[in-house]
Amino acid sequence: MVNRNRIRLNALSNCPNEVSTLLLRLTSNRWTHVDILGIDIGGTGIKAAIVDTSTGALKSERHRIRTPESATPQAVSAVVVEMMDHFKWNGPIGCTLPARVEHGIVHTAANIHADWIETEVDSLFSIATGQKVTVLNDADAAGLASVTFGAGKGRMGTVFFITVGTGIGSAMILHGKLVPGTELGHLQLKGRSAELYASARVKKEKELTWKKWAKRFQKYLHMLEFLFAPDAIIVGGGVSRPAKIREYAKYLNTNAELLFATLENEAGIIGAACAAAVNDQN
Ligand code: BGC
Repeated sequence: MVNRNRIRLNALSNCPNEVSTLLLRLTSNRWTHVDILGIDIGGTGIKAAIVDTSTGALKSERHRIRTPESATPQAVSAVVVEMMDHFKWNGPIGCTLPARVEHGIVHTAANIHADWIETEVDSLFSIATGQKVTVLNDADAAGLASVTFGAGKGRMGTVFFITVGTGIGSAMILHGKLVPGTELGHLQLKGRSAELYASARVKKEKELTWKKWAKRFQKYLHMLEFLFAPDAIIVGGGVSRPAKIREYAKYLNTNAELLFATLENEAGIIGAACAAAVNDQN
């Protein structure tokens, strides 16, 4: 039975983007909760684990549940509850979503069910679970994890985390602080959203070789550099597995330092938990 008194539905205006605040708090023992359930909601799978947010380490096995065929807010909400039950969890929860989430409300649905648009997702999940749930964009979460614990740890300047999978997601981190909701996978390239030209899904559907795909991705990176002049670009998502990087990294050339994500498919889970940890303090 859920304890509805635990629910605090507050506006998440600037909470999940406070990386510097997060780092400060990580070192100052002011946590209410250190262990947090992180849930990464993707188009094919929903993955979760308990995360020690002071180290970024997983404190449990990862558990994966197939994303429902018709992934409506209600259907996904039921899986979030199932996850909570699986981990017998009682405490804050962090969740990712492959969409723009602003102040707890979903605003885009490029790769998810159209019913998500205008869904008050923090409220939906919080009411369903009886816990305080913080929801943020999947790329923002992975970028947050990367600059806190992964390949981008401690980097200052302008850092982009670009996740390449079904779509292309982006996180912009400026001097250690996330600028949320950038959605740079939708920059126009060759007359369409860049993710419709250079994502891993396009590579698969068009049966592109790594060299051909890299040529497309290089155009995308070039555009990012032209527009933003980042100091570092971290490539994450499915294409950041070491065996894959070996196939295409040699074809990429950037002025920015080019890094590859190291947290692989745990980044979203860790970032979601960290965002919830920060929100738990507010
Ligand atoms: C969505 C982004 C998401 C990215 C990666 C895009 O289609 O618009 O919000 O971060 O896919 O999942």
